[in-house]
Amino acid sequence: MFKIQMDDDFQEVAMGETVLRVAFVGLGNMGGPMAANLVKAGHEVVGVDLSEEARAAFQAVGGQVATSAVEAVREAQAVVTMLPAGKHVRSVYTGEGGILAHAPKGTLFIDSSTIDVDCSREVAKAASDAGMDMVDAPVSGGIVGAANGTLTFMVGGPEGAFERAKSLLDIMGASIVHAGEAGAGQAAKICNNMLLGISMIGTCEAFVLAEKLGLDPQKLYDISSKSSGQCWSLTSYCPIPGPVPTSPANNDYTPGFAAPMMLKDLLLAEEAADSSGANTPMGEKAARLYEEYCNNGGENVDFSGIIHLLRKSG
Ligand code: NAD
Repeated sequence: MFKIQMDDDFQEVAMGETVLRVAFVGLGNMGGPMAANLVKAGHEVVGVDLSEEARAAFQAVGGQVATSAVEAVREAQAVVTMLPAGKHVRSVYTGEGGILAHAPKGTLFIDSSTIDVDCSREVAKAASDAGMDMVDAPVSGGIVGAANGTLTFMVGGPEGAFERAKSLLDIMGASIVHAGEAGAGQAAKICNNMLLGISMIGTCEAFVLAEKLGLDPQKLYDISSKSSGQCWSLTSYCPIPGPVPTSPANNDYTPGFAAPMMLKDLLLAEEAADSSGANTPMGEKAARLYEEYCNNGGENVDFSGIIHLLRKSG
């Protein structure tokens, strides 16, 4: 059941039977297909983006578009935001013409952008002060997961807001996890991606060393994929062509998950480690290596392409 609070009354509606008015801010690589899935599920979705191309693409899949975020949220029952970084989220929610001041009281806000934990908590507090329900719900699964509606959502926020958000998240994702209070979704996302960045570099280093030692990389794969070195970077996203046919290495390292996106998440992890006093030396090293890679040809390459940097600096 999906509960919507409107004009201080609770209207109870069964999921799938009631069309919700959803505003969707940020129709980019991720937001575009996510919003399209809400349209496909029968919801009335009004999209907003600074880019005319993104707006046109959304109209082409049956979405409506608004000229501003304020216009889009004025009659919304739920609002989803999918924006590049914390500064965009802060400005869209609480800046001049911010959506929190213009949506009906009790509107549900879902921010799926990947942003820093402090900003996420600050915006959640502003939403709560304005009488709104809000969750942070960053995703993993990339543009393929966004298109197929199979994203994983890591959700932070009060139980009630999570319950309200779940029926919409279920349309856009396959796995919805309530990680804790406000900011917990962002915390889970950056911890996971710091681990991924470190494990990808470790996997690449093992292949680079194998090459230097004259060990057939396929043999290393066959052994490590069944040994203690096994990890997702090796068996699902192998950074050399061959062993895992679906990995970007087989497609000239076309993203996938671009190296600058990984760098962004590693820098968020570093910032969170600094502000919380956590010791993450491997995360810091991974951030420096991705920085170097992004400044030296990796800016449009999948993050597994960092194997090229490691080969060169050997
Ligand atoms: P994107 O740059 O393709 O899309 C962001 C969109 O937001 C753009 O179309 C931009 O025009 C729009 N925008 C910016 N400011 C706006 C404003 N004030 N009002 C309206 N629209 C505005 O980025 P993306 O790849 O869709 O990523 C979005 C978020 O998802 C990021 O936080 C990213 O880290 C995260 N993410 C991306 C991936 C991925 O594989 N692309 C995977 C997981 C998480």
